[in-house]
Amino acid sequence: KLSNRLLQVATYLSKGGYFADIGSDHAYLPCYVCLQDKTAKAIAGEVNEGPYQSALRTVKSYGLNDRVEVRLGDGLAVIDNDEKVDHIVIAGMGGSLIKSILEDGKAQLKNVKRIIAQPNVDARGVRRWFNDNHFVITNESIIEENGHIYEVVVADLETKLNPLKQLTEKQLLFGPLLLENRTDVFYKKWKHEYDKLEQVINQMKNAQGQDLDKIEKFELEKLWIKEVLRGE
Ligand code: SAM
Repeated sequence: KLSNRLLQVATYLSKGGYFADIGSDHAYLPCYVCLQDKTAKAIAGEVNEGPYQSALRTVKSYGLNDRVEVRLGDGLAVIDNDEKVDHIVIAGMGGSLIKSILEDGKAQLKNVKRIIAQPNVDARGVRRWFNDNHFVITNESIIEENGHIYEVVVADLETKLNPLKQLTEKQLLFGPLLLENRTDVFYKKWKHEYDKLEQVINQMKNAQGQDLDKIEKFELEKLWIKEVLRGE
């Protein structure tokens, strides 16, 4: 059975699409989607040999070789320049890695209408990349599974009907849509982040050669979290 985290990611793929799952590991997501939707096709991209071999095995075991193509390569380089991939999934990595995969692969994003990202940490950096690169955040979710809290951020290429709006620093941090619809899991995450940030600030204040700019930046973030936790 697929994890709830990846099930959530799968809900954002449209039927009959052609998508690339970058850093696919076992290729569970593309296999699941292609088993559910007989008209879907996918690329499972992997940069490491071990996961690449696992992906090949999973695809073979489900008899999906004709619809899930496993490719070895770094990030979006597994996609050919003129290939009509409409959706990209990048899940289960840190936000800074996701951001650099997108940045390095801009040439491969020409036909891409939607990017579904599931950053394990630093979702802010991913949202910032979307906001700076003509992708509008159209859906977000936050879920808890096995003691971890995961965020999924969905972004669609800007169109006339769906124009880009510059997001504020606060929206980038919390997620523009998560902020509008605060769930129990959202509050749980930010209570925890508040405590962590408080500890970090205290340590920084006690350190020799204090980094005052950084302390000020973190204090501001702490204030934002406090406001958000109060429901403001
Ligand atoms: N996407 C799956 C998920 O969400 O469950 C697997 C996540 S796994 C923790 C991260 C995978 O990304 C690893 O299999 C790793 O080999 C792969 N990876 C890391 N950097 C990559 C890159 N630049 N290009 C492609 N794959 C990468």
